[in-house]
Amino acid sequence: MASATAIVPPATDSADARRYNRIRRWVGVADFVLNLMVMVALLVTGWTGTLRDVAYRATFQHYGLAVFLYVLMLMALAKILGLGLDYYSFRVEHRYQLSNLRVRAWIWDEAKGFAVGVILAGIVAELLYFIMRQAPQYWWLIAWAAFLGLVVLLAQLAPVVLFPIFYKFAPLENEELKDRLVKLGERAGTRVRGVYQWRLSEKSKKANAALTGLGSTRRIILADTLLANYSTDEIEAVLAHELGHHVHRHIFKSILVQAGITFVGFWAANLVLHYAVDRLHVFETLSDFANLPLLMLVATVLSFLVLPLLNAYSRFNERQADTYAFRSIAKVAPFISAMNKLAEQNLAERSPAKWVEWLFHSHPAISRRVAAAEAWAKLPGKPR
Ligand SMILES: [Zn+2]
Repeated sequence: MASATAIVPPATDSADARRYNRIRRWVGVADFVLNLMVMVALLVTGWTGTLRDVAYRATFQHYGLAVFLYVLMLMALAKILGLGLDYYSFRVEHRYQLSNLRVRAWIWDEAKGFAVGVILAGIVAELLYFIMRQAPQYWWLIAWAAFLGLVVLLAQLAPVVLFPIFYKFAPLENEELKDRLVKLGERAGTRVRGVYQWRLSEKSKKANAALTGLGSTRRIILADTLLANYSTDEIEAVLAHELGHHVHRHIFKSILVQAGITFVGFWAANLVLHYAVDRLHVFETLSDFANLPLLMLVATVLSFLVLPLLNAYSRFNERQADTYAFRSIAKVAPFISAMNKLAEQNLAERSPAKWVEWLFHSHPAISRRVAAAEAWAKLPGKPR
């Protein structure tokens, strides 16, 4: 349709792009509702108590082991019930020619994802109930602090421990790009520790880039699907955007925002848990881990309520990173063409409905980002 060098964006999004994104939204909503229903069902039927008893019996009444086994059973149940939706998502990516993932590799990825999920959830649950047993009065405050520590640790470890479980990474070898990045960094008065090539093409036809890590693991990752199909100027524009996230300390600020939200979350969880134990007498003690679905319910409802706010905050950060990019690159034209290419390649909606953007999108609509770049170029004294 359009040539590789200059994509002329269509006036409206294609029917395919609209349908694909509508399906993805519905899958997201269905997944959310399913998880909610599983937790409510476990609580209402009392099956959570049955699962706890099974966990106790199987571990010869060992509390710590029983907690882990309970988490494992809960996650296995959720995974089995959600498998249909997971497979459907996998098929959808293929239907729209966006995936390079074979069924076998997909199953392997799902298995790895499940294992990682169980380990992380296991650590969180063990910590949580250990703290509840040791300090029943202030558990929520201590647990909040511990959770925050875990978030920071995970943000730091993610690029070196978590991501490599699913993708291969290698230091960027393109000397020209590296040189441009160093210059971008110098102009910003900052040093970028590393740029890595992210082998996304093994799994997807989509392109992406991100800033990840904390401290010594801070790095920009660029998908090989981006490196292969975009001009050096376009890649530089993407790099400048990611550098904008770094300069504006967006990862650190996002963790601070999370700290505020989780503080309210743990406080609310304490109230709900006390109500369930002291008034309703559905659990004997706070540390009865059969109440885990109740805690998860509180977390799920709260995260749903703050989702539009978090997305608005994220879009604010993205706009800030975009503005940073406009300022750092010689011309905004490569930024605009990179945006249009990304929309095309990822089958993104350039102009989603306003409520869709408000509720679901962590990034501003491509049409808005392009418009912002064009407006920037029209400012007096700015080269085009
Ligand atoms: Zn960004």
